[in-house]
Amino acid sequence: EVLNKIIDTKGSIRVFCRVRPFLLTERRPIREPVSFGPDNVVIRSAGSRKEFEFDKVFHQSATQEDVFGEVKPVLRSALDGHNVCVLAYGQTGTGKTFTMDGTNEQPGLAPRAIKELFNEASMDHTHSVTFTMSMLEIYMGNLKDLLSARQSLKSYEASAKCNLNIQVDSKGSVEIEGLTEVEVADFTKARWWYNKGRRVRSTSWTNVNETSSRSHCLTRITIFRRGDAVGSKTEVSKLWMIDLGGSERLLKTGAIGQTMDEGRAINLSLSALGDVIAANSKLTQILKDSLGTRSKVLMLVHISPRDEDVGETICSLSFTKRAR
Ligand code: ADP
Ligand code: MG
Repeated sequence: EVLNKIIDTKGSIRVFCRVRPFLLTERRPIREPVSFGPDNVVIRSAGSRKEFEFDKVFHQSATQEDVFGEVKPVLRSALDGHNVCVLAYGQTGTGKTFTMDGTNEQPGLAPRAIKELFNEASMDHTHSVTFTMSMLEIYMGNLKDLLSARQSLKSYEASAKCNLNIQVDSKGSVEIEGLTEVEVADFTKARWWYNKGRRVRSTSWTNVNETSSRSHCLTRITIFRRGDAVGSKTEVSKLWMIDLGGSERLLKTGAIGQTMDEGRAINLSLSALGDVIAANSKLTQILKDSLGTRSKVLMLVHISPRDEDVGETICSLSFTKRAR
């Protein structure tokens, strides 16, 4: 509820759904439970049919480029001074990390977005634009600085700063104390840091799968844009790219449970995001000043094509479906 007030109506939220393809190891059912239109998803199971609408649906065959194409416009907004937040939501194993990070062959949203920011900045002949980058992980309420680890150590985890505190100043700006913020001069540098952050995340903790399903991974690009005219002020905006912990975990914490009443005609697209974020108080605090007026939010709901996952799929979808 608090978050619904924070996400001002002047800000905007768009909700997309992406269905991952069957993996090679998975058996395709004869009757697939998930079917689609361009902006709706239909789930059939045990004789019932449920339909969910989105701003856009990405089918199994959608490429990383297709997904990026829909995200590109908000990068323009970020460069124009809006705070932008892109979140990947969904059950563990549905492709959140694939969408955000991708692979070397199929890079995901984050590397593509960073590249695009540099491209756009180089074409802006009336401003000088610079970027800084930070990456952090929230795990069980603990904030870990993913860029602070020293490269020379075998175990990144041992040298990554943990337990960072969040401070809010009198103007309402959120500051994460001691969080590494690196200046990135070009895409190559930015990618190097990004890959480092990813490696630190994936080598963290003892059980990688357990951790990645329970931790939120946040990448922040801060954009400084100054007009070339004398006396121009520097405008600062933030682009957040967030790989959320598995939604099944959020459900189990009970934070989301109450909103599962499907009949309720509330503005779900907004409240859903609010609940996702409110389910984690650290996440709420960190994003507080990024979800205000004029901010743009993109939520990418990920679902599984499998029969076994229909229950979770319906949860994820009804939770984020748009108000009619
Ligand atoms: P999550 O981060 O939601 O737990 P992952 O991104 O780790 O899920 O994806 C689970 C598996 O599915 C990985 O092996 C990943 O490569 C694969 N995968 C997910 N989405 C796609 C996709 N759109 N195309 C191909 N493989 C995918
Ligand atoms: Mg993941």
